[in-house]
Amino acid sequence: MASRKPLISGNWKMNHTHLDAIAVVQKLAYSLGPADYERAEVSVHPSFTALRSVQTLLDADEVPIALGAQNVYPADSGAYTGEVSPVMLAKLNVRYVIVGHSERRQLLGETDGMVNQKLVAVLGHGMSPILCVGETLEEREAGTTEAKVLGQLKADFEGVSPEAAAKVVIAYEPIWAIGTGRTASPDDAQAVCKAVRAWVGEAYGSELAGRTRVQYGGSVTPDNVAELMAQPDIDGALVGGASLDAERFARIARLGHQAD
Ligand code: PEP
Repeated sequence: MASRKPLISGNWKMNHTHLDAIAVVQKLAYSLGPADYERAEVSVHPSFTALRSVQTLLDADEVPIALGAQNVYPADSGAYTGEVSPVMLAKLNVRYVIVGHSERRQLLGETDGMVNQKLVAVLGHGMSPILCVGETLEEREAGTTEAKVLGQLKADFEGVSPEAAAKVVIAYEPIWAIGTGRTASPDDAQAVCKAVRAWVGEAYGSELAGRTRVQYGGSVTPDNVAELMAQPDIDGALVGGASLDAERFARIARLGHQAD
């Protein structure tokens, strides 16, 4: 199997002012060292209002933490009041953009069609999407988890070339596990991540599937990260609540790469 460097991403959602964000990144940079960055890639995803401050800090101190965004609008510019374009993000050295997070799908009505447009826009500007897919509790109980997740992948990757697909990170995030303190068992998470990789293999070939990073997200903490990351098809974590605190997030990043 291809070796894949784990990606541990902190999704801060609508938390942290730009001043809080600077403080967290400073502490994180202090806690993590070259051995950590060697074995895992770490990204932070502040609010739009904090991106510039965090970018300035990362650049000035040459901190090898990747800058990420939580969302994007799929147009370069124009009359889209309140939206932020991929051009603006790329100019801030944003490397990863979360696309299709379940909170946006559920609370803000994002459809797979919109997610597909965002995915294409992010790729078109040289950044990597972190594409979130996952099932509701009802879907899991009805035994339709795989059908839901693979259906989302099919729709969200519509028209994406193999060259572009190679830059996509896929985050399997069961919706019932996000922000609830309930985590998928390592076996259940592994089963879905394996199915995700198999789908990439069918759509784009086994070589690309072997290179694609598949994250797990949903109430990841320092207590459960190592067991999750020890699964063969899980290559990192998308962390919400537990990434807000630098010390907890640094522990997750460290424990997350010790499993490989
Ligand atoms: C998320 O925001 O993607 C997430 C997984 O949140 P939490 O870790 O809080 O469940």
